[in-house]
Amino acid sequence: DKWQQIPMKCTVVWFKGCAALGRLPTFRIPSGSREMAAVESREWYMAAYAPEGVPSSDHLKLRTIKLPLDSDSIPDQHVVVEVLWISVDPFIRSKMTGNDGGLDFPQFGLGEVRRLQLHLKVITELAIGRVVRSKDGKFSEGDLVLNAFSPVAEFYVVPAAVLRKIDPTAGVELPNYLSALGMPGFTAWLGIEVIGEAKPGSNVYISAAAGGVGMFAGQLAKLKGCRVVGSAGSDEKEEFGYDEAFNYRKETDFDAALSKYCPNGIDIYFENVGGKMLEAVLNHVNKYARIPLCGMISDYNTPWTEREGVRNLLNMVGKEVMMKGFLVASYLNGYFKQGKINSKHKVYDGIECFQECFASLFTSSNIGKVVIQ
Ligand code: NAP
Repeated sequence: DKWQQIPMKCTVVWFKGCAALGRLPTFRIPSGSREMAAVESREWYMAAYAPEGVPSSDHLKLRTIKLPLDSDSIPDQHVVVEVLWISVDPFIRSKMTGNDGGLDFPQFGLGEVRRLQLHLKVITELAIGRVVRSKDGKFSEGDLVLNAFSPVAEFYVVPAAVLRKIDPTAGVELPNYLSALGMPGFTAWLGIEVIGEAKPGSNVYISAAAGGVGMFAGQLAKLKGCRVVGSAGSDEKEEFGYDEAFNYRKETDFDAALSKYCPNGIDIYFENVGGKMLEAVLNHVNKYARIPLCGMISDYNTPWTEREGVRNLLNMVGKEVMMKGFLVASYLNGYFKQGKINSKHKVYDGIECFQECFASLFTSSNIGKVVIQ
């Protein structure tokens, strides 16, 4: 209900001088070329696994393929989609290690790309696209669509059944379907409202508080009347209306920072980071605190045997703390509506940015939801 009451404001940060967000991207297939037999499509693939460190151009590579567009090449009940916006998410890091990193997702296949069928081993992301050829009665050319498992590519062929239509008359700027009204917004709501059970006056602490999920978690907690403290990796990120915020790269004694900014302790810790931050938080939890375990990004580039241990779990016993891991995919039900949520997108321009853009998730260089146009 809270989501529905509030109008939504969207701010966009451009990375490489894109045109205005409201502009619907132009087809790269020239108009009047319905007879075009094929299109060239650039696509990213996994050339080698990266068990540790930030995946580089040694691991992620771009190639160009020719995609046939003639009717005979497209199976019935399939459509060809031109990709317009791609979400860039930390969780796919765990699919690039070549071993089990703890999130229990299948690994991307080496060298693989999706052609016609659903194939979870290729590099996929949540993405918005536009139908450019259709052999399915439910989709017409020009329809805007969401695909939870879109190849990181310019064009692809897909069974129509996996796509969800976007209503172009809804007045929602497209990247918001990848952020406030998409997976990050819903993840934030689950952590704050469902698992965190935020109440007016609750003391809430959010790590990665200016990121794709964190910015919504903090704002939702403020709307519930909580006192909200956030941490992020640069000073200019203190902009989502939190009561207190600190730069974890400058204030590296997390225990001291939490004593300073959370003087009344922590009732809800929205966990995005893990490691040392989680350990510090456990020294500041109040009786019956809740810790929704959303993610642990500080560990994603390190094999599990070399990660930080959390030595003070005993606090959870004494304080009777509830800690619960959750995956947004287990809860998705299409819940959303416009609101007065300040939504920021860091927009990278062009499919060729993917590897650089993905690496930036680990360097404090973005604010808000990272997407590629
Ligand atoms: P994001 O903000 O788009 O990008 C990465 C974020 O991680 C940035 O905010 C960055 O903060 C922070 N970060 C990177 N390295 C860090 C480090 N060593 N220490 C502290 N912070 C670090 O990411 P997101 O999509 O919102 O995801 C945030 C977390 O939620 C991740 O752990 C992700 O896996 C998790 N997640 C879970 C679910 C689920 O269903 N459980 C769904 C979505 C996301 P700074 O730039 O401020 O340093």
